[in-house]
Amino acid sequence: MHLSPVGLSKHCFLVSLALCALLLLLIPTLQAPQRQGEPPQPRPHARLAKPRSGHEPHRTHNATVHQSAGNGKDSDVNQLPLPRGRRQGSWRVPKRDSTRASFPGSQSREPLEQKDIFIAVKTTRKYHISRLQLLFQTWVSKAKEQTFIFTDGEDKELKQKSGGNIINTNCSASHTRQALCCKMSVEYDKFIESQKKWFCHVDDDNYVILPSLLRLLSSYSHTQDVYLGRPSLDHPIEAAERVKSDGSMSVKFWFATGGAGFCISRGLALKMSPWASLGNFITTAEKIRLPDDCTVGYIIEALLEVPLMHTWLFHSHLENLQRLPTADILRQVTLSYGGVENRRNVVSIGGDFSLTEDPSRFKTVHCLLYPETHWCPRNIRN
Ligand code: UDP
Ligand code: MN
Repeated sequence: MHLSPVGLSKHCFLVSLALCALLLLLIPTLQAPQRQGEPPQPRPHARLAKPRSGHEPHRTHNATVHQSAGNGKDSDVNQLPLPRGRRQGSWRVPKRDSTRASFPGSQSREPLEQKDIFIAVKTTRKYHISRLQLLFQTWVSKAKEQTFIFTDGEDKELKQKSGGNIINTNCSASHTRQALCCKMSVEYDKFIESQKKWFCHVDDDNYVILPSLLRLLSSYSHTQDVYLGRPSLDHPIEAAERVKSDGSMSVKFWFATGGAGFCISRGLALKMSPWASLGNFITTAEKIRLPDDCTVGYIIEALLEVPLMHTWLFHSHLENLQRLPTADILRQVTLSYGGVENRRNVVSIGGDFSLTEDPSRFKTVHCLLYPETHWCPRNIRN
């Protein structure tokens, strides 16, 4: 049969039409038959999500956390000038970074929220007004639900102010090792009871920069063993080992100084239980005869063999706070101020408050972090 070009294209058109019709008829029969009452079968070509490797999601997660929160400066902050005489040795061991990269448990975890953190503030009756009022006026007002005050005397007004988050430890109101360990023991038990993901301890002369705290803890998993804080010594402390042996041996360990604050993941806190829960903390502290913060370090580093992650984002008035670069102040996790012995030891940050109006600089820091606060000078003037 001879076909002209027109005839050929007409022929092709008809053939294509027939093929299309045939295909349309066949499609329903190509699908897998599905009997009534049976669950739908997976489609043979549906792509299954590829399981991600242990590292990948975590790194991605960290990158997000650090970029969005501007925490790429973390390492810069770790290079901050240290108080004189504390520049050498283990001060600069970047334990935190190496651990951070190897947390498999962080793969599918939900983002950390402020409500997941238990913040314990240690205080005593005589500081309820002189120290705590400032905290309630500033950072505690932004974390009321998760801040718990541990004191040693009844105070109805404070009870109301804290929304009931005040615990009378019934520990003695003194600065002795026993009294401080007694309070830490109650802090620990209350945290375990709380079911929260992180335990953070601070003193009543600390300002907690909540966004920085959340950012820091978000880099870790609460199910892993995490102990974060700042050592006050440039070497590990040495004590007679009276828990695992009879005291004839000595043990060396790092501890995070309580005056700068420290944090412990729930996973690790649970492991501390035999030496820390229900009064055992006091027994352990008595055995090694060291203060509360050293005892925490002893349980974690010496007994559980979990290393302290040294971080310079926590600050006590044991260091020279004036040396903290102004541009880095708001990125820190905790701040403090000098007591009667050194009133000038405060962070150097300018703002709308004079040194007389805000000797600790906490109000200044607070107004820079939360400029909408009603008592911040800018809002009063406008
Ligand atoms: N503190 C206490 N009982 C006291 C004295 C102090 O519980 O008799 C608390 C105080 O509220 C603070 C911490 O212990 O949270 C450290 O006290 P301070 O800042 O006076 O001394 P530092 O050890 O920092 O020089
Ligand atoms: Mn102090």
